[in-house]
Amino acid sequence: MGYWEVALGLRDAGGYNPPEPHNYRRRTEATVLLEGKRLLITGVLTDDSIAFAVARVAQEQGAEILLTNVGKGVRLTQRVARKLPTEPGVLQMDVNNPDDVAAVSDEVMRRWGRVDGVLHSIGFMPAGGLGGHFLEAGWDVVGPGFQTSAYSLKALTAGLLEPLKVAGADGGASVVSLTFDARFAWPIYDWMGVAKAGLESVARYLARDLGPHGIRVNTVSAGPIRTMAGKSIPGFDQIADRWSERAPLGWDLRDATAVGDMCCFLMSDMARLTSGEMIHVDGGYHAMGTEPGFEE
Ligand code: NAD
Repeated sequence: MGYWEVALGLRDAGGYNPPEPHNYRRRTEATVLLEGKRLLITGVLTDDSIAFAVARVAQEQGAEILLTNVGKGVRLTQRVARKLPTEPGVLQMDVNNPDDVAAVSDEVMRRWGRVDGVLHSIGFMPAGGLGGHFLEAGWDVVGPGFQTSAYSLKALTAGLLEPLKVAGADGGASVVSLTFDARFAWPIYDWMGVAKAGLESVARYLARDLGPHGIRVNTVSAGPIRTMAGKSIPGFDQIADRWSERAPLGWDLRDATAVGDMCCFLMSDMARLTSGEMIHVDGGYHAMGTEPGFEE
């Protein structure tokens, strides 16, 4: 028995001393975080997509959801939607097309008259903007990537303002986006990293302007997940493979459930006074200076 275990009250000097049952907050029923919430979820492409994990957890937590995707992605989204606990509706929306966003906003108003949460899970960077060509990439490459990956958070949120404001005035609304910690320069991430820095900043400005309407805006910084977008980054493994060595809680490249959990928490009333925040779901990687160097 270690000194600290005694000092922290985990054990007493006489041996194993588990906390009394009354110290635990017991629940007889499962927690339902998103009961009655109506959420619009972008970016479900495959069942590896981070947005798929968000959609699954959201339904498990009692939310009603609608999915969107762009162009040919819609067919894939419709197919994968059948794997969710309840098959949701799927709408077509190119986030860069204001008419598409307006049509989705109208449809949301027609169906629900409000939207309690919006997940922005959209990213794109042309090949030349990733993979070690930082100095060579021109604006013709970077511009479209920046528009789709950063500016689009503003375009989506502003386009859905009508249903967001209804929920904002009636208990609160939440917009959540996904980033990859843009405080640092990463190998091969290049202009996508710059776009993520923009996205994180867009979220803070939206939080500033929309807070008075009861609308929160936050980002979740996920560790690497082997999704379509992840795999399309040349050299993704350079970042991903060593993640679990540094992350003190460990990391599973194939399981986005914990990211889904955090996004759903941010869309729940429990996060009602959190806005303009970036929350890491990365196994604790961001807090380490180097590999912990634990002894076996
Ligand atoms: P994904 O490929 O499953 O999802 C990306 C989605 O963006 C796709 O559904 C795609 O159709 C959509 N999209 C692209 N252009 C669009 C447009 N113009 N309009 C509407 N939708 C468009 O990959 P993912 O990894 O789940 O990515 C989701 C988000 O998570 C992205 O912002 C990504 O940068 C971010 N993220 C991913 C990782 C990772 O390691 N996979 C880590 C941190 C953050």
